[in-house]
Amino acid sequence: MKTPLLNVQIPSIYTKGNQPALLPARMAKCTPDMYHALHSIATDLQEKGGKLVLSDMFRSYDMQYQANLDYRSGKKAAYSPPPGGSMHEAGRAIDIDLSQIKVSLAEFWAISQKYGATPIISQPNAGLKEAWHFDCRGSHGLIYEYYKNGKGSNMKPYTAMAVSSILSLGIMVDRFGNHCNEAFIQSGLIRLGFDIGDIDGYIGANTNAALKKAGITSSSVEDIIKQIEDMLQAKFPIEYQAVIDEGIDEVIPEHIMG
Ligand SMILES: [Zn+2]
Repeated sequence: MKTPLLNVQIPSIYTKGNQPALLPARMAKCTPDMYHALHSIATDLQEKGGKLVLSDMFRSYDMQYQANLDYRSGKKAAYSPPPGGSMHEAGRAIDIDLSQIKVSLAEFWAISQKYGATPIISQPNAGLKEAWHFDCRGSHGLIYEYYKNGKGSNMKPYTAMAVSSILSLGIMVDRFGNHCNEAFIQSGLIRLGFDIGDIDGYIGANTNAALKKAGITSSSVEDIIKQIEDMLQAKFPIEYQAVIDEGIDEVIPEHIMG
């Protein structure tokens, strides 16, 4: 199966008639492992008198497109990449209200890291831009490491990780045109521990060799995808656990791959 997106109910910075409101439904979607992280972080924070309050989580293709336009026009100060480069598009990123955590940012880092949420900046300095942004990398962290170690070179490590995260939902990424399925196969193979060179959407000698090593012999793209998805689900079950609680349901994302 594809990595599912779940609808979640979580406090937000937004208000409705002067009352604090939940994060609007269009943004309140995340992967199962992100959901687990949110739940655990919120519980730990509550014990310390703080509260996990979000300003942003999931962005659809169109929402990311608008966020990038707003950055380019100066309407939004924080950098927002074009669609195909943000972990928000994969339901794997949160922006939190730092004024409500009631612990130092360093303490919050310790809590969030315990549950697999990684800060995007390198120092726990609440005054830095993006100090509020945390990613749940999951197995896509392996893509980040792969590119960081120079095994792939056509994207920055962070972009490659975002691309892999978005493709795993079955959402298209523009840079691969109509080769998104092939790009997913390549990123899946890397997450399974194989080397394929760059994720570029073209199945060449390296990808074919990795498929053979993985024991996948089919020539049908649909068949290969199914086998890779099954292997990923077996290796990273927490990322595929669709139903966690009552009241949580699966979301079908927009821009589904053909
Ligand atoms: Zn963010």
